[in-house]
Amino acid sequence: MSGNLYRALSDGFPDDRTRIAIEVPGGACFSFAALDEAVGRISQLLLDLGVRRGGRVMTQVEKSPEAVFLYLATLRIGAIFVPLNPAYREAEMGTFIADAEPAVIVGQPRSEAMLGKLARAHGGGIVLTLGQDASGSLLDRIDGLAPAPRIADLGADEIAAIVYTSGTTGRSKGAMLSHGNLLSNADTLHRIWGWRDGDVLLHALPIYHVHGLFIALHCALLNGSRVIFLPRFEARAVIAQLPRASVFMGVPTFYTRLLGEPEFGMEACANMRLFIAGSAPLLPETFAQFEARSGHRILERYGMTEAGMITSNPLQGERRPGSVGPPLPGVSVRVAGEDGQAMAQGEVGVLEIKGPNVFRGYWRMEEKTAEEFREDGYFITGDLARIDEDGAVAIVGRAKDMVVCGGLNVYPKEIEAVIDALDGVGESAVFGLPHPDFGEAVAAEVTLDNPHADLDEARIIESVRAQLSGFKVPKRVFVVDALPRNPMGKVQKKTLRERYAETFKG
Ligand code: AMP
Repeated sequence: MSGNLYRALSDGFPDDRTRIAIEVPGGACFSFAALDEAVGRISQLLLDLGVRRGGRVMTQVEKSPEAVFLYLATLRIGAIFVPLNPAYREAEMGTFIADAEPAVIVGQPRSEAMLGKLARAHGGGIVLTLGQDASGSLLDRIDGLAPAPRIADLGADEIAAIVYTSGTTGRSKGAMLSHGNLLSNADTLHRIWGWRDGDVLLHALPIYHVHGLFIALHCALLNGSRVIFLPRFEARAVIAQLPRASVFMGVPTFYTRLLGEPEFGMEACANMRLFIAGSAPLLPETFAQFEARSGHRILERYGMTEAGMITSNPLQGERRPGSVGPPLPGVSVRVAGEDGQAMAQGEVGVLEIKGPNVFRGYWRMEEKTAEEFREDGYFITGDLARIDEDGAVAIVGRAKDMVVCGGLNVYPKEIEAVIDALDGVGESAVFGLPHPDFGEAVAAEVTLDNPHADLDEARIIESVRAQLSGFKVPKRVFVVDALPRNPMGKVQKKTLRERYAETFKG
């Protein structure tokens, strides 16, 4: 039996392949036959370009059905998919290309020259382009190609994707996920979330992240379901399509935005079976307001790049606000101190997990990988959690000081490095503050070592914006005389979060 994930996904396609797999409202529509044909032709192109099993196919493209086909083609030939956020800029892309050494890089048409330059600087990689409107060389080059005849036979342990997550040190780590990791998770979620004939997924998530690329799409493909594929989240577009859908997945920000639309209510949700939330904590207020307006109790689940989904509130039974539910079948969880000492039941500690969903390690970082696993195979998530008496997990914070802004992870160290390098800055501390729209917003406290430097809040923000993606740019910068430090010299981020907690409220 082949362990190739594409084999398993395509086994879920309906017998009637004329049924719709992906539909872009007001745009293209692909049947399962058309999807499989496009995937086969892109597979052939990748093979013709010399991409082999284990070779990396990096993408930095806008969301489109063709970008999904490229992902599936990479699986199909046994190469490794490396998705990147289209917001990344040149310096960030250079780091990823140097680290992943891709055989092929597919970028947006406007990035072609930049990617070509980076590929040459970092030892090669063929650059192709794909626009959101299906323009670009990737699709030009599959014109007239016959689909590659076979799906590669693979072991379940072979790597399907490398997804970058940053460390608190700011250095990106590529989490290697195997075909077996992804398939076991997809099979479990398909079952426990009760996917059934006729389900339609409304997809508004980005596809460079685990949530939109793996969790949402794998469930729908395994189920042979139609996916209504929105190019991005836009509350009114979601409300317009909801009556045709039965399943929706979103980050908490999506739900607060839907609640911000006066026309959102029971009527739009009449056909809906399931609303799922994750990637960041769902506020109990949001859960309650959503139930009052729509009649639906959002099912919150918890996961991370390194493990896909880990816990989920139940489909049947109580969905508890503030809880992320028990571990998925086959997944074990425990809570431990920093030293690995088990904590008493109900106490807060770092969540450790084990199961078939847990990744195969960080790409070319053996030592880092070893540090994050216990000897008995448990992975240290870095999330602070409590396990309640009935086995449900509550996430209470992050051991690492990551900020999650609109569902996207921001690692303070990376931004601090950029601010610290500005002429006139003494030092900086970046932290997250509660924000009614984004969940959390990035903020910074900064000291100046030259009081005459021509620097103020606006200039610092502008300088960061020139170097980093928008979601990493601080929304507020507070210039102060000194950062709060403990006697050991460590900056007290907790104090900062408390000091400015009210900044975005009201
Ligand atoms: P990522 O690797 O980008 O998927 O981010 C994973 C991190 O997001 C986790 O380690 C958690 O800190 C956070 N996270 C994901 N889902 C939830 C949730 N339901 N509640 C609280 N935090 C979450």
